[in-house]
Amino acid sequence: MPDLPPPTLRLTIDTHALAHNWRSLDAMSGEARAGAAVKADCYGLGVDTCVPVLRDAGARDFFVAHWSEVPPVLRHVPPEQVAVLHGVVTREEADYARAVGVLPVIDSLRQAEIWRAAGGGPCHLMVDTGINRLGIRPDEAESEAVRALDIHTLLSHLACADEDSAMNADQLRAFESVRERIPHRIASLANSAGIALGANYHYDLTRPGLALYGGVPRAELRDAIRQVVRPEARLIAVRNLDRGDTVGYNALFTAPEAVRIGIASLGYADGILRSWGGAAFAHEGVDLPILGRISMDMIALDLGKAPDLGEGDWVALPYDLPEAARHTGLSQYELLTLLGDRFARGLT
Ligand SMILES: *Cc1c(COP(=O)(O)O)cnc(C)c1O
Repeated sequence: MPDLPPPTLRLTIDTHALAHNWRSLDAMSGEARAGAAVKADCYGLGVDTCVPVLRDAGARDFFVAHWSEVPPVLRHVPPEQVAVLHGVVTREEADYARAVGVLPVIDSLRQAEIWRAAGGGPCHLMVDTGINRLGIRPDEAESEAVRALDIHTLLSHLACADEDSAMNADQLRAFESVRERIPHRIASLANSAGIALGANYHYDLTRPGLALYGGVPRAELRDAIRQVVRPEARLIAVRNLDRGDTVGYNALFTAPEAVRIGIASLGYADGILRSWGGAAFAHEGVDLPILGRISMDMIALDLGKAPDLGEGDWVALPYDLPEAARHTGLSQYELLTLLGDRFARGLT
């Protein structure tokens, strides 16, 4: 087979910004060190691109959700530095964890029993202090199954760290009381937003995800975080419309006057959902407004202010996450994890 030509859409990952963000969050974590949530293929940006950068910046604690996410991460870091947040739901998962040396986050008494039956060993333990997803209840702290565990990190997860909610202090108090009752080596509570809640929330290890990749869940993080990801696509067609011509499915845009448009080679199948309608691409500081409906593989752009742009040229979608979230109604998390496989992921 001949070599495949490079795709006409690309995601440029600013590895300097990624390393900067980890170092900023590590510094903001004070006495604690920052780990890195690398689940969902580093929030869509690519494990092979991001994990080496985070490792070289200094991260030593990596969190994934599923066991299927472990092998790609192990290409870059040793197994004892990887934790699986969904724990051991089956005996097969427990056997796999022991065979590869990756630590499960035990999430229930049932999981604690599975881990013990498989032979046990060091693990982490999640305590649910109010989010009501995963973790043992605080009143299960003294149970036989928990006592039998060899717990490295005691974790809990904040439900409202991105808001000024009374629930943050409630969860902190609940975590405090559990921490005294369960033997463990280190403790970890804060996600990205939690880091900005102050030193009480830092414990020994923080677990940023979103903010590593350029997300800003709280205003306090704004100045510390740089944008990491830049989606771009080539124009695969340029055409001149007359007044009254329409563009795209359902003819939602009608040209009010003669206009030159370009067709960019990406669409909702790449994660640029219809809710981007009304936004603009950009080229050298000039806006290229999106016209009509976003298709699966194409987006029409108004080239009125960019007469030099032609077929084959690259255009960029501004991807400042807080601003994009406001415009699209999508969360900053969704804006990252939606970015599809057809983008070539490249580094700067
Ligand atoms: C995803 C996740 C994180 C990271 O959260 P962000 O809000 O992306 O910083 C931390 N801890 C747990 C348990 C998670 O599931």
